[in-house]
Amino acid sequence: MMMHKLLHNWRYYGFEEEQYHENMEKVFNNNLRGLCRLNMIAAIFMACFSIYPMMFEHKILKACIYLFAAAVALALFIFSTYKFKQLKQEKYIDKQIIYLLMIIFYADIMLFGIYVGVWSNPDGVAVTFMSLLICALFMFITSPLFNFCLNSSAFLVFSVSTIIFKKFELWVPDVENASLAFMLSLIFGWQIAKMRIRFVHESNELENERDSLYNLSTIDELTQLKNRRDFTQTFQRFLGNYRQADNFLCIALMDIDFFKKYNDHYGHSKGDDCLRSVGKMLNELQNSDGIYAARVGGEEFAMLWFQEDAASVNKVTALVSRNMCKLNIPHDKSKVAPFVTLSIGVHVVKCGASYDMHALYDQADKALYAAKKKGRNSAVISGSRESI
Ligand code: GH3
Ligand code: MG
Ligand code: MG
Repeated sequence: MMMHKLLHNWRYYGFEEEQYHENMEKVFNNNLRGLCRLNMIAAIFMACFSIYPMMFEHKILKACIYLFAAAVALALFIFSTYKFKQLKQEKYIDKQIIYLLMIIFYADIMLFGIYVGVWSNPDGVAVTFMSLLICALFMFITSPLFNFCLNSSAFLVFSVSTIIFKKFELWVPDVENASLAFMLSLIFGWQIAKMRIRFVHESNELENERDSLYNLSTIDELTQLKNRRDFTQTFQRFLGNYRQADNFLCIALMDIDFFKKYNDHYGHSKGDDCLRSVGKMLNELQNSDGIYAARVGGEEFAMLWFQEDAASVNKVTALVSRNMCKLNIPHDKSKVAPFVTLSIGVHVVKCGASYDMHALYDQADKALYAAKKKGRNSAVISGSRESI
């Protein structure tokens, strides 16, 4: 039991299995970023190392080995940068590829290190190389098992080659140093990884808290629609953010007809229920048709959406009116229908020009006023000539 707990603790850096996997998603993005940087640095270093043997020692083979290592690091840098860009767009990361990139990176510096530390240079360099290899490991966070495998294979390859190619008095201290580095890296690597995962975990929690606070500050409690504050921000964003195919931006203001009478007749809490139902209907519209909706006043609502062709604007207003009819909230005191209805004012503008948000809002408000004057339970569309 005790053993099982210890193993569990080691495998997941002291986290619950689920927490560990959740955090590792983010950690892998950092790994990819680390891979980009490290490979770039490695490529520059190896290329520089090739200059001396090429220019002054005239050892072409030596220079070629450095250049080969530089080329591999450069290729890895390009590939990992490409993957990183892809990740930013798709928000998905293929962990197998990151593992593979890390293994190739390791193999590259391992071969380079063996060449420097075992075949071509005086002693001492081997230890420097081992330390570098281990430091590189600290840059990445993988599972402890993967770390162990990488580390022990680096240690084994290094030890075997030094035993084969060096004299006894030279390989003994090399292997001693390598085993010490191996042990320290396992202990410190685990601790550093745990600290970094904890950091990611805590920043995730802060982010979630910030998101929920942001949601609280932008959502209307009664209807669960977005509130006026969010509407203003979204409106501002919509004015500059349209796609190529979006020709028109539509701003709709809607007001419940004879709502004062509704409140007076059915009571305020029934009035609240009515607002909730309208809110739910508009929220569903947002989910199904991508039409942004908010509650901008007591019984006033707003919608924003882009439209390819202006002729279809009235399809949206008709849909809202139809949905109100389907909701069928009885309203005995209404002079226009036996159920609760909305008056809708829409202002349509062509995308591309710069507009003043408040002026557009006033235009939609004017259209709403016209709809009220027209007799309520109706829609008036104003703006772009093609749209009317
Ligand atoms: P019109 O057809 O011209 O729009 O008439 P109206 O009665 O709807 O217009 P008016 O602006 O006079 O009335 C709006 C009413 O909405 C007054 C207010 O009591 C009610 N109201 C505003 N906010 C709330 C709310 O949060 N809950 C409830 N139950 N009623 C609200
Ligand atoms: Mg009103
Ligand atoms: Mg009203």
